Amino acid sequence: MKPFLSIKEIQTKIKNKEISPQDSLYFFRKRLTKFAPKLNALIELFHEDSTGEKESKEGLLGGIPGVLKDNITQKGRITSCASKILENYKATYDATVTTRLKQAGGIILGRANMDEFAMGASGEFSPYGPTFNPWDAKRSPGGSSAGPAAAVAAGLVPWAIGTETGGSVRQPASFCGIVGLYPTYGRFSRRGLVAFTSSTDQPGPLTRTVYDNAILASILSGHDPKDGTSISKPQQNFTEGLDGKFPKDLKIGIIKDSFESDGVDPQIKTVFEQAVKEIEKLGAKTKIIELPELKYGNSIYFIISRAEAASNLSRFDGTLYGNRIKNAENLEQMYVKTRGEGFGAEVKRRILMGNYVLSSGHKEAFYFKANQVRNLLRSEFESAFEDVDLLISPTTTTLPFEIGKEISDPLALYMADYFTVPMCVAGIPALTLPCGFSKENLPIGLQFVGPRLSEGLIYKVAHAYQESTEHHLKTPSGF
Ligand code: GLN
Repeated sequence: MKPFLSIKEIQTKIKNKEISPQDSLYFFRKRLTKFAPKLNALIELFHEDSTGEKESKEGLLGGIPGVLKDNITQKGRITSCASKILENYKATYDATVTTRLKQAGGIILGRANMDEFAMGASGEFSPYGPTFNPWDAKRSPGGSSAGPAAAVAAGLVPWAIGTETGGSVRQPASFCGIVGLYPTYGRFSRRGLVAFTSSTDQPGPLTRTVYDNAILASILSGHDPKDGTSISKPQQNFTEGLDGKFPKDLKIGIIKDSFESDGVDPQIKTVFEQAVKEIEKLGAKTKIIELPELKYGNSIYFIISRAEAASNLSRFDGTLYGNRIKNAENLEQMYVKTRGEGFGAEVKRRILMGNYVLSSGHKEAFYFKANQVRNLLRSEFESAFEDVDLLISPTTTTLPFEIGKEISDPLALYMADYFTVPMCVAGIPALTLPCGFSKENLPIGLQFVGPRLSEGLIYKVAHAYQESTEHHLKTPSGF
C-alpha cells in the first residue's frame, strides 16, 4: 500500500480485492508505530489484541483505522484529556461517536495528544509534551486537536476525530494542511465527550479530503436521545451531493476582515485572494460582507468558555473521578491539593477567570452581557445568510507558529482564534480545507461557513473547489 491514500481510495481497493482489510490495518499500525513518536501525536497506541480488529471488518470503515482525541471516551480505556488529574481514569462507557465509528467498522488505534482539557491553540499545553507539525517539526500543529491533526497530515491514519469548542478542529486542520469540520451545534452527539464549554463543544472529523470528511460526518450524524442538546434529525449521507460542481447561482460572501484586518498575515491574504479567484472561476458570485459583531467573537468566547469550564471542571475534585491526593488532613485540603496538583497552569487560569465572571456582582457585567452579544452575533450571521448562501474567510490569521514562541503569551494564542471562534459561539457549521502554501511551504486554510444545518451544501461546494485544485495532493516530506 502507498501512504496518503484517502478513505475512498482504500474502500475501492478493498472492494476490488486489491488489498484486504487486514493489509490496511497492518499498514497503518506500522506507520503509527514508526512515526507517531516522532510527532508526539499519540498518548497511547493500542495493542493489536485489544482493538477488536480481528472481528470487525464490515461497514464503511471496515479495516480503515483512525485515532480519537483523548477527551472522547472509549469503554475500558483511559480518557486522560491530557491532564494529570485523569491520567489513570478509565472510561466506563463508549462515547456515542465511538459507538457509531465502531458500528461502521472503524478500528480505533489510539488516543491522540491534545492541549489539556482541549484548552489551547498550539498543542503545547499537554503534560505529555508538545505535538510537532509534520510540515516543519519546529512548528506547532495548532490545537487543541494537535495529535489528531498531525497524525492525519502525516498519513499515519486516514481519519481522526477531534473536538472543537472554539477552533480546535479547524485551526489545527488549517495548520496541518488537511480538512476539518465544526458541525452545526447539536449535529454530532456530545455524549462521552468530556465537557469543556457545553454550549459550543462538538466532535469534528479530520481527514485529508473533503469527500472523506463527508463520509465521517455521515457516520457521526443522527439524533442521540442520550444527549439533551442533540438535534432531532436522522442520520444523513453527506457524500450524496458531491458531484464536483457548484450549485447553480451560488452566492458567496467574503468576510470583510479577511482582507482588511491588520492582524492577518500578508502571505495568508495573498493565498486567500487567489482562492477567491478560483471560486469565482468555478461559477460563484461573490460579494464582500461586513460583520461588525465578528470582532467581539473572542471576547464573548473568552467569558462564556471560562464560565462553563469553571463549572464543568468542578467535578474533578478527587471524590468521583480521576486522581485523589493521598496525604490530606481534611476534606478541604484534599480538594485543594488534588486540584492544585492535577491541573496545569492554563486550566487553572481559566477556572479562576470563569469563577470570577460568574461571581455575584460580576455575573451581570460579564456573563450576562456576553450572552447578549452572543445573540447579536448569531442574528448578524442569520441576516448575512439571507443575502448569500455561504461565507468564506481564511481559517487562521497566522501561519503555524514556532513551538515555544506563543506559549509565553496567552493573549496572542487567544487571538489565533479570530476567524474560528465566532462560528462556535453562533453554533453554525464551518469547514476548513487547504487552499495554498506560504513561501516556507506551510499550509494555509480556507473556510466555508454556512447557516445552521447547511453541512450538505458546505461539503458540496468545498468538494467541488478541492477537486478543481491540487493543494490537498501535496504531502509533508519524511513520512
Ligand atoms: N483555542 C481555543 C481555546 O483555547 C479553542 C479550544 C477548543 O476549541 N477546544 O479555548
